[in-house]
Amino acid sequence: MLKGIVVSGINNIYNVKANDRTWVCRIKGKVFQSARKFHNPIAAGDMVQFVPYNSKRYEGWIVSREDRTTSLVRWNKKRKAPQVLAANAQVQVCITSTDSPPFRPRFLDRLILMGEIGEMQAVIILNKIDLGITEFVRNRIDNFKDIGYNVLFCSAETGEGIESVKEYLKGKVSVLTGQSGVGKSSILNRLGGKELAFVGLVSKKYNRGSHTTNSSNMYFVEDGNRRGMETVIIDTPGMRELEIYGIEPDDLSFYFIDINKYSGMCQYPSCRHINEPGCAVRKAVSQGEIHSDRYQSYISIYNQLYKSSREMYGRA
Ligand code: GDP
Ligand code: ZN
Repeated sequence: MLKGIVVSGINNIYNVKANDRTWVCRIKGKVFQSARKFHNPIAAGDMVQFVPYNSKRYEGWIVSREDRTTSLVRWNKKRKAPQVLAANAQVQVCITSTDSPPFRPRFLDRLILMGEIGEMQAVIILNKIDLGITEFVRNRIDNFKDIGYNVLFCSAETGEGIESVKEYLKGKVSVLTGQSGVGKSSILNRLGGKELAFVGLVSKKYNRGSHTTNSSNMYFVEDGNRRGMETVIIDTPGMRELEIYGIEPDDLSFYFIDINKYSGMCQYPSCRHINEPGCAVRKAVSQGEIHSDRYQSYISIYNQLYKSSREMYGRA
């Protein structure tokens, strides 16, 4: 039996890296009862045990998966199931752009939330700074900084700021997320330069098309001879929208640092901060102490979570 790290997976066929070789593995039998409700039981970043059945062609059966330290999970609307985008990453890199596509602060709220639910630390990247930073974007970014998030600025086009991104990610396992078009692939190419190594081996035989863009891939950025200190990056599919999965609506405010700061001061301990009298959160919003975008994100995610928990558990 061998142990390896999953670098990619398509149609339940996984590339598993073990001792500098990449194996093409499938899941053996019904070993993942606990992952049944998931669209994909295994994701890039997972540590798995597998039994080689063809050592010449490097093919094996995955028999178990180790517990995850972190996970990045979204609700896959099309499949009506949660989808694991990445496992065991330390940092979630939330990529945004100054323009084209326009900066979407509320999408960023959702990205950050998804990572924090999965126990990851978030860092924000504002890409395309060569296009200029408007007053609106500057204000919103400053607000994220005030809340406590780390923000890095760069341009994958000109290369400005890329060194600091590289430095930040060095020696860590990171997962890149972002709306389609923000420049995720361009940044990834910049980070890897010529050394960027995708070790996936899924051949045409296995790849029945169409799903490649809907799954994550892991890349190893070579760093000279510092073995074991390499930078690992998991790239996720570009998204257009993001539905949150994995928490109850009433726990949502704990994840909004700025909102949570006020929630203890509400008149009712069970305040949802929607329409209750004596709500300290709504007061803080009206006084500009909490950004109204943040509050709107809170409300819209609350409603989405409420709706999906009703659908799932049939609650009234
Ligand atoms: P992805 O969908 O997030 O992977 O985005 P891509 O990397 O494919 O980039 C989308 C488009 O934005 C491409 O036309 C890129 O050339 C362009 N782009 C990426 N980064 C930058 C940047 O820093 N500045 C400018 N002006 N364009 C960029
Ligand atoms: Zn309240």
